[in-house]
Amino acid sequence: MSDFELLVFDLDGTLIDRDGALLSACEKLLGPRPAEAQGELASLVAASGSIRRLAARFRLPADQLRKAMLEELRPRAEVRQLLVRLRKDHGLVLYTNGSAAVQHAKIRAAGLDGCFDRYLVSGEVGLRKPDTAFLKLALGGTPAADALVVGDDPRLDIAPAVSLGAATCLVGSAAKHEAAQSRFHVDDVLELTEVLACPAST
Ligand SMILES: [Mg+2]
Repeated sequence: MSDFELLVFDLDGTLIDRDGALLSACEKLLGPRPAEAQGELASLVAASGSIRRLAARFRLPADQLRKAMLEELRPRAEVRQLLVRLRKDHGLVLYTNGSAAVQHAKIRAAGLDGCFDRYLVSGEVGLRKPDTAFLKLALGGTPAADALVVGDDPRLDIAPAVSLGAATCLVGSAAKHEAAQSRFHVDDVLELTEVLACPAST
């Protein structure tokens, strides 16, 4: 195993499929749509920064869309098992942008409560990614060089980690991999075990 003391995880798009759940929720609330509108809906969900903005676009109450999204969020047992396994050798921190109520509800819905040593939600601490002060808070007393930051967003997750000197693992599509300055990349967070089996220095 590598010698990273601390693993810092993003939530949305990294450990949970927030966009997938949001797309299912929109489909449910908006009803059957023609095939061409389906592709458009998926693009809108992927591009929407917030549930509120997406709800406004479709003239849905934001609360209703949020509730439907939480219902569509399916726990992945393999992700929880991965975290349990990793916690034997590393400190684990979750750090995520969003409101406290919504992010903690997602954590519970995804079965990820109790998996981390610490949970940091931007709405609770008053700092947001990509502010490096937020990442420093997530690192706690651990030197950045001893940490691996795992996330799906080059701007929000990878850039602040690189600027502090932490190692990074980008989760997601190949196009993002090319654009980001990440040291490691995986298509799915479950492949992280392969990254951590590598030597810590390259
Ligand atoms: Mg994310």
